[in-house]
Amino acid sequence: MTVIDRLDALFPPDRVITDPVRLRTYECDGLTYHRATPMVVVLPETTEEIAAVVKVCAEFGVPFVARGSGTGLSGGALPRSDGVLIVTSRMRRIISIDLDQRRAVVEPGVTNLAITEAVRDRGYYYAPDPSSQQICSIGGNVAENSGGAHCLKYGFTVNHVLALEVVTPNGEIMEISEDDFGYDLLGAFVGSEGTLGIATKITVRLMRAPEAVTTLLAAFPNIEAGGQAVSAIVGAGIVPAAIEMMDALAIEAAEAAVACGYPPEAGAVLIVELDGPAAEVESQLAEVIAICVGTGSFEQRVAASADERAKIWKGRKSAFAAVGRISPAYIVQDGVVPRTSLGEVLAGIDALQVEFGIRVANVFHAGDGNLHPLVLFDDTAPGEGHRAEIVSGRILDLCILHGGSITGEHGVGVDKARYMPRMFTDADLDTMQRVRCAFDPGGRSNPGKVFPTPRLCGEVPRVRKGSPGEIF
Ligand SMILES: Cc1cc2nc3c(=O)[nH]c(=O)nc-3n(C[C@H](O)[C@H](O)[C@H](O)COP(=O)(O)OP(=O)(O)OC[C@H]3O[C@@H](n4cnc5c(N)ncnc54)[C@H](O)[C@@H]3O)c2cc1C
Repeated sequence: MTVIDRLDALFPPDRVITDPVRLRTYECDGLTYHRATPMVVVLPETTEEIAAVVKVCAEFGVPFVARGSGTGLSGGALPRSDGVLIVTSRMRRIISIDLDQRRAVVEPGVTNLAITEAVRDRGYYYAPDPSSQQICSIGGNVAENSGGAHCLKYGFTVNHVLALEVVTPNGEIMEISEDDFGYDLLGAFVGSEGTLGIATKITVRLMRAPEAVTTLLAAFPNIEAGGQAVSAIVGAGIVPAAIEMMDALAIEAAEAAVACGYPPEAGAVLIVELDGPAAEVESQLAEVIAICVGTGSFEQRVAASADERAKIWKGRKSAFAAVGRISPAYIVQDGVVPRTSLGEVLAGIDALQVEFGIRVANVFHAGDGNLHPLVLFDDTAPGEGHRAEIVSGRILDLCILHGGSITGEHGVGVDKARYMPRMFTDADLDTMQRVRCAFDPGGRSNPGKVFPTPRLCGEVPRVRKGSPGEIF
């Protein structure tokens, strides 16, 4: 009896995939350069079915990987060729909505945007808004502690998840909630990238839609002037719902892809969104415009309608995919720096472009220093991909050097596990491994992700060290 025999006995034929052609659909996530074909894919429809699959994995000692919509950008949902891929795409029910308590309970495959769509007419919304929100699943958001443009004011997924039902790596069904006494297991699970089990029901906070929202597009001659405006806005005590910045290359790409109409001569644009009581928004908008003008902005456009607002956001939200219009291949990097170091880090990225002859388009959540450099290269030009990878790694070194982090919101996954020793000591990593082992002593839940040298509980730690810029 094999794992596949057992799964075939548990599920109807259309929910266990072993056909090699169909398996290829699942061989990568949004990070397409890490690929593996899963041994088998299962499409469960209930928590109990997920628990049953995980128990089969425990019985046979095989690994499993959860997959939501596969939009992850760090290879977190990369399958194992010796393991089971558990896909939540058939678990898309909104189980309950309780507006009195301002919460909803949803299945893990529900898309981020579907939650807002379910309550929008009644004046509510779900706040974390990754640019991938039309497609990405809330289960994936929980695993990655995903953010988005509006997390500057409202916080990340961890600030909006109130409780979880979880299938543990040995197949038990467990509930964890922010109301629990003792250790903050909910906090540990959110952002654990599928390594502590599978979230099967998610209770999220619903927010009341603000009375007023206004969106400003301000054009600057260069990125330094835009950066000064960001510091001055925050320094003035204004907390916009979002402050996003794009440089000239990112603007060029967005224009080519979605004709968003940003001023073509801009060296940088800032999108500043303000929300709250109408009177407050109005006075803050005047202040923000004055700051932008004072720091060199040569054009300011305030969206006069929902359509104009959507058009301003369209350029930003499509920026990752848009660079495909100006480059045959690219790496989406994700790092964080203190806001005060943005200028220096961007200058450092400029220097890397010159040193390696590689173009980098910058798109970022400027308000919280979350950079998304898009490292462009021609994958048919010999050596260019390798140079792009070096630039990409050096950008993370710059982030660390300035007191930042190797990921802001896309997670570590398989892609950045090698960078972990640049940020954490052996002792740090060992402590994290112990937490993981407390949930998953057999190391079956999404192994090979997050940690540079995955090991089972009780094994002696041996951490691979990387020097800055080194590519493993
Ligand atoms: C164009 C584009 C724009 C993006 N913009 C943003 C952005 O603005 N902000 C941001 O934070 N991210 C962004 N992302 C990254 C990505 O969309 C998020 O990480 C998202 O949360 C992944 O959700 P998913 O359903 O696609 O997860 P997947 O890619 O399927 O999986 C991601 C991780 O979650 C685990 N996982 C999935 N479901 C579960 C579950 N039920 N229980 C436990 N673990 C699970 C997987 O094992 C994997 O480790 C973007 C991606 C793209 C392609």
